[in-house]
Amino acid sequence: MSTKTEQLKKIKDEVLNLKESPLYKYRTENKYFPVIGEGSHDAEIMFIGEAPGRNEAQSGRPFFGAAGKKLNILLDHVGIKREDVYITNVLKDRPEMNRDPLPDEIKIYGPFLDRQIDIIQPKVIATLGRYSMDYIMKKFALTSELQPISKAHGKEFDAEASYGPIKIAVLYHPCVAIYNPTRIDELKKDFEILKKK
Ligand code: URA
Repeated sequence: MSTKTEQLKKIKDEVLNLKESPLYKYRTENKYFPVIGEGSHDAEIMFIGEAPGRNEAQSGRPFFGAAGKKLNILLDHVGIKREDVYITNVLKDRPEMNRDPLPDEIKIYGPFLDRQIDIIQPKVIATLGRYSMDYIMKKFALTSELQPISKAHGKEFDAEASYGPIKIAVLYHPCVAIYNPTRIDELKKDFEILKKK
């Protein structure tokens, strides 16, 4: 069995050559990078956002721009170090003009996320935003518990991963605090559910 690093590198190589993705042409035309994920390969908490934005696609790093700054503030608030967690997205390539992910794109990139979860084996999956919440809740057979994110945010759910029991923490996407800075306190409060972990 190859190491976690080797298995994650394989995912990176596959995504780099993912010509069948509708976002592949946009990536190469703009000299963007795919954004696979970063952080500890033994992380107990995995954060999953929606898709890379421009800063992320230019750097190849998740949550590297304005949303990343907000995420850093939220992590700081609960005393979690960025390097101790793993951060990734549902989509690994930037959709044009940061539009919402399309179902076909989620279908193409979802299996890579599934593999990342199985490799890293986090005890807690923290979803950032509704696309990530939807994907993870459905993946872990929690469709019947799905609610709009305005109701589900700040809640946690028990689920069974292939490697054992996990918690799913549903969080707002940090960009909420970009559009509406006064909401940062609400986001901070939700992040406090991670403190117990
Ligand atoms: N928004 C996301 O969902 N992910 C990123 O990596 C950056 C912004």
